[in-house]
This record gives sequence, C-alpha cells and structure tokens, in this order.
Amino acid sequence: MFWKGKKDILKNPFYNEKDSLVVYIKCDRCGNVMKKRILKSRDFVVSYDGNAALVIDKLYVCDKCYNQIKVDAGFKRSYKPVYFEINGGSFVSEEEYDEGKEDEK
Ligand SMILES: [Zn+2]
Repeated sequence: MFWKGKKDILKNPFYNEKDSLVVYIKCDRCGNVMKKRILKSRDFVVSYDGNAALVIDKLYVCDKCYNQIKVDAGFKRSYKPVYFEINGGSFVSEEEYDEGKEDEK
C-alpha cells in the first residue's frame, strides 16, 4: 500500500527545513528520542569524491545516559541523501518523537 505524503525514514530520515535538516534520533541504550538540527550554513562539508556533494559527520551525546551516537551521511546539492549511517542509535519519525514527548508528561 502506498501512503501518499507519508515520509519514509528508511529512505530519508532527514527533514528538510529552510535553513537546516532536522533529524530525530533514538538512543540505543536508554530509548531517549532527541531532535537534532543540522545547519546548512555550518554543519555540511563540501565533498569532491563519490556521489555526495555534501557530507556530515556528527557525534551526538544522549542527554539522559551520555551514550554517544554517531551519524555519517552524504547528500546531493539538493540535500537529498546519497547514503547515511547511524551508530549507537536509530532514526525515528517526527510522529514517534512527538509521541515520546507525550509519554513523559
Ligand atoms: Zn541514552
């Protein structure tokens, strides 16, 4: 079944906003879900090999258990991902992030 308009985070976990890409990361160790903003003006490095024109190499620290979560990804100039990899956590959808916040209240 095809869900029109629904984002497939397995294909692209990055939410493209005006000045940044937003990603939702779930910590493998404690299950904490975090929202991270990757600024287009600052966080991308221009790449000259392979298919990726822009790359990121980010290390995030879980604000609850201090587990380290590493995100590597390459993008086309349009910020469409060519490849992405996460270690120490997993990508989740915006919906899952919103649900997680409600659980804490
Ligand atoms: Zn954690």
